[in-house]
Amino acid sequence: MIAILLGPPGAGKGTYSAKLVNTFRIPQISTGDILRANVKEGTELGKKAKDYMDKGLLVPDELIVDLVEDRIKADDCKNGFLLDGFPRTVEQADALGGIFKKNKLSLDGVINIIVDRDVLFKRLTGRRMCKACGGNYNIYTLPPKADGKCDRCGGELYQRNDDKPETIENRLNVYEKQTAPLIAYYKKQGNLTDITASEGSIDDIVRNITAVLKK
Ligand code: AMP
Repeated sequence: MIAILLGPPGAGKGTYSAKLVNTFRIPQISTGDILRANVKEGTELGKKAKDYMDKGLLVPDELIVDLVEDRIKADDCKNGFLLDGFPRTVEQADALGGIFKKNKLSLDGVINIIVDRDVLFKRLTGRRMCKACGGNYNIYTLPPKADGKCDRCGGELYQRNDDKPETIENRLNVYEKQTAPLIAYYKKQGNLTDITASEGSIDDIVRNITAVLKK
């Protein structure tokens, strides 16, 4: 199964993906996670991407597309994959279409996660991540058992630079301008389904997404 999770920052794409990968037994491909790992390791890509990321801007398409193509060709993607945070521009979506064509792959579905803006703000300001394993928490909605520590590995939790209030506004505007046009793009292709996720438990939302993808 090949699917895309589309939605603004704070919609919960990473949280839902972490559960969906167990159900469908396919990897999650998060370009944000890949970029953060590169920043942490101080690679050339990481050095080029860091400034854009800290400002809440998109990293240029040419730094992202090849990286995704390489990742998709890896062995663990043979039964499909879940794209989280890619594509984020119409140009990236066109490039992805080209990659699918070249590799004889086809897209099964696009899930458009809809969340009210005030809820997004709260989710983003409350989000904490594990420095060691990348696990996702939220001090309001999904707190760790012990303050500041990852339940899974005991790693230290931190707030992403781009989850600071001054950058969040920017990221949401960038989403509206550059990524939201993909809703019409995939609707036109006939494989987009809206899922509202402002309310309800994470498990309920994941159940709704799963039902759509299993159809
Ligand atoms: P995310 O974890 O998906 O919110 O991504 C964090 C940051 O990484 C974004 O604000 C962008 O700066 C960058 N990024 C992630 N994915 C992409 C993408 N597909 N295209 C451009 N920039 C991206």
